[in-house]
Amino acid sequence: MGWAIAVHGGAGDISRSLPHDRRQPREEALRHCLQIGVEALQSNSPPLDVVELVVRELENIPHFNAGRGSVLTSEGTVEMEASIMDGNTMRCGAVSGLTTVVNAVSLARLVMEKTPHIYLAFDGAEQFAREQGVEIVDSSHFITPENVERLKLAKEANRVQIDYNAQPIQNDTKKEKPCANGDSQIGTVGCVAVDSHGNLASATSTGGLVNKMAGRIGDTPVIGAGTYANELCAVSATGKGESIIRGTVARDVAALMEFKGLSLKEAADCVVHERTPKGTVGLIAVSAAGEVVMSFNTTGMFRGCATEDGYSEVAIWSDAQVE
Ligand code: ASP
Repeated sequence: MGWAIAVHGGAGDISRSLPHDRRQPREEALRHCLQIGVEALQSNSPPLDVVELVVRELENIPHFNAGRGSVLTSEGTVEMEASIMDGNTMRCGAVSGLTTVVNAVSLARLVMEKTPHIYLAFDGAEQFAREQGVEIVDSSHFITPENVERLKLAKEANRVQIDYNAQPIQNDTKKEKPCANGDSQIGTVGCVAVDSHGNLASATSTGGLVNKMAGRIGDTPVIGAGTYANELCAVSATGKGESIIRGTVARDVAALMEFKGLSLKEAADCVVHERTPKGTVGLIAVSAAGEVVMSFNTTGMFRGCATEDGYSEVAIWSDAQVE
């Protein structure tokens, strides 16, 4: 049994012709964040600290749909959400509707540690952030030109992304087109980790879907849907939140292990390929025994993993690049 870690930067309909200048910075960012997590595990940081640290780093990189890179609501505003869970204690925290908090994942952890509750949202969550003295900025900080463009294109096409099955409107002027910067979607972030004693943790953070209704809450902060950890495994999901919530994706992986005795891989593959509609979900998961799984039914998932025995991989599509 050894430590293991996996990270994701979102699953979706990621074209294989994604331009190099859009692909390479994200792969680099995944490698960088994975390395931060590996070093933390090697220096015996608890997995809960590791997943928070890695997701904070991912939130600070605008190439992903979380923190600084969060996509915008139909009103052009940002509403970030995140959750975190500790496998041993099954303590967890979640936040939604954040407009000024730099690192949503850390606020989720504070909800877990400093309140009698699990989930705070909107004004109450913002007020709690101020009371806790976490880093806060003007919400304009999160409104990047790329996301203004993504929102404009989503509105022109009259769609909420990720909406993989949506047909482009059959009018040339309104046809779905890639974002001016080469891609129309960027992804949610997540991290799962297990140490060599089998302690597990998971964290996920997002801006949600491009052009979502103000007030919409996705799977990311919903414990059991986008994030889950117990004494058997830790899971972080990404994709179409409505499908992930309906499928209780993260909890189902743990439940299949617990009640049916499936391995981590069997459980993850069952949830992703048999229980959730095609094109809607990806997940990363680690087990207490140090196994790692990255499974998706979308075209691709930005992802990476590393294990104590020296295996490491960063990949987007189904053909993994072993490092
Ligand atoms: N699951 C997220 C949501 O629906 C989006 C994503 O994973 O990219 O809010």
